[in-house]
Amino acid sequence: MEPTTEQFDAVIVGARCAGSATAIALAQRGLHVLAIDSARFPSDTLSTHLLWPTTLAEIQAIGALPAVEAIGAPRMPIAQAALDDIVWETGYSAVSGIDYAMCVRRTRLDAVTLGVAIDAGAVVRQQCTATALVRTGGRVAGLRYTDSDDREHEVRAPIVIGADGRKSFVAKAVGADVPLLAQPSGRACYFAYWTDPHADLRHIASQWRVDGLLGTAFPCDDGKVLSLLQPPIDLIPEFRGRKVREAYLAGVDALPGLAKRLAGCELVSQVRSCTGIESYFRRSSGPGWALAGDAGHFKDPVTAQGIRDAYRYGRLLGEALAPVLGSRTGVIPDKVDAATARWATQRERDCIEIYQWTNVLAAGQPPSPIEYELYYRAQSRPDYAATLADIYNRVAAPSEMTPPRTITAAVASALRRPGVAGRDVAGDVRDQVGRVGRDLLQRRRFLSTR
Ligand SMILES: Cc1cc2nc3c(=O)[nH]c(=O)nc-3n(C[C@H](O)[C@H](O)[C@H](O)COP(=O)(O)OP(=O)(O)OC[C@H]3O[C@@H](n4cnc5c(N)ncnc54)[C@H](O)[C@@H]3O)c2cc1C
Repeated sequence: MEPTTEQFDAVIVGARCAGSATAIALAQRGLHVLAIDSARFPSDTLSTHLLWPTTLAEIQAIGALPAVEAIGAPRMPIAQAALDDIVWETGYSAVSGIDYAMCVRRTRLDAVTLGVAIDAGAVVRQQCTATALVRTGGRVAGLRYTDSDDREHEVRAPIVIGADGRKSFVAKAVGADVPLLAQPSGRACYFAYWTDPHADLRHIASQWRVDGLLGTAFPCDDGKVLSLLQPPIDLIPEFRGRKVREAYLAGVDALPGLAKRLAGCELVSQVRSCTGIESYFRRSSGPGWALAGDAGHFKDPVTAQGIRDAYRYGRLLGEALAPVLGSRTGVIPDKVDAATARWATQRERDCIEIYQWTNVLAAGQPPSPIEYELYYRAQSRPDYAATLADIYNRVAAPSEMTPPRTITAAVASALRRPGVAGRDVAGDVRDQVGRVGRDLLQRRRFLSTR
């Protein structure tokens, strides 16, 4: 039997962060939008879920903050980071009035934002999987999908949005899956949930580093604490198969600050893993299509930026498309494509620097002499610690971490530090200067070709 064909103003594949934000922005502006997802909600996805104040501001912008807060995760107004025993602690600059982070499990977070999309009038079909794009006159004009009974459907729309994650079907179907820019991660992710009897610590999001190992503790909903380990990739063999739990616990023990934080807590979940991670930008707009969220752009989890950017640029895509799709004089395809192209360029401009900074942290290298000095600086200077938190919170640009004066002071104090060899400091300076130069060149080339 021929599939039935329905017409929408926009069709979105994927209905988690990016898909729901785009659907909300379009539906709130009166457009007839369909979002399909092969998952059934509520359901989990392979992701930890630290939400910076800037992320919560995006959740607020799509109207989901009260429902997300009602899930019951604690507010965390304090950020803490430690390198060996050098510890800094700070609050956050407020973004849209929000000066606390939260950690909310995806099962609930995604269900809440999807609920807002449905309330706004979006048509949401779960357990439906996109299988083919429909093309007319060189443009994407719709898609085919199968439902949970394996029935095939066809939908038509002037725009098809892939919000279908890193393995995006839409990206592949339009030939955009090979990235414009990519960087394999030097770290892997292993995470698990613990009980958390430490009521006095549930307002703090913490990170610890020793050598190349990095671990975090983020108090989350249900009274639990999420702890993510990000070892360098050469340690992956230690985490293989049945050994994963053992290796995860050994990793916790290798970070004394984390081990102390988790003392008295009980590991109550499986250890989940994510390896083979790559950060990238893909071409994210073309005739009749656009890629929102991870489908178009991904950063290593080490800086926890993905959920924020999926919501933000999902919403902005919807806002950019709404006037074009809702035009009383009819939809002009060139205007649709111009809107998605402008949107994609904006995301590239906004995100390239944090992408590069994330790649530095994701390299999995042991901290360098200069990095040690920056931790000492943050420990003794609250204003500098606040700048570091502001970078994660997207209030400050990564370059604000190392203005020339700060670097000069860090080099001078590294050279005075007992036990630090001058040649190591000189090598570090060479590496940092080289990296900054390469990043600058990469940024210029990338943005000028876009
Ligand atoms: C290990 C790990 C830890 C992370 N930790 C954090 C963190 O702490 N904080 C943070 O901000 N970010 C984090 N991120 C990043 C974050 O998970 C992503 O950036 C975010 O999920 C992107 O949302 P999205 O909507 O683009 O895609 P996704 O959340 O991946 O959703 C894509 C959806 O598309 C659906 N789909 C796929 N193919 C099809 C198809 N053919 N048909 C229909 N539906 C389809 C899927 O079922 C899925 O529901 C982490 C990522 C990883 C991998």
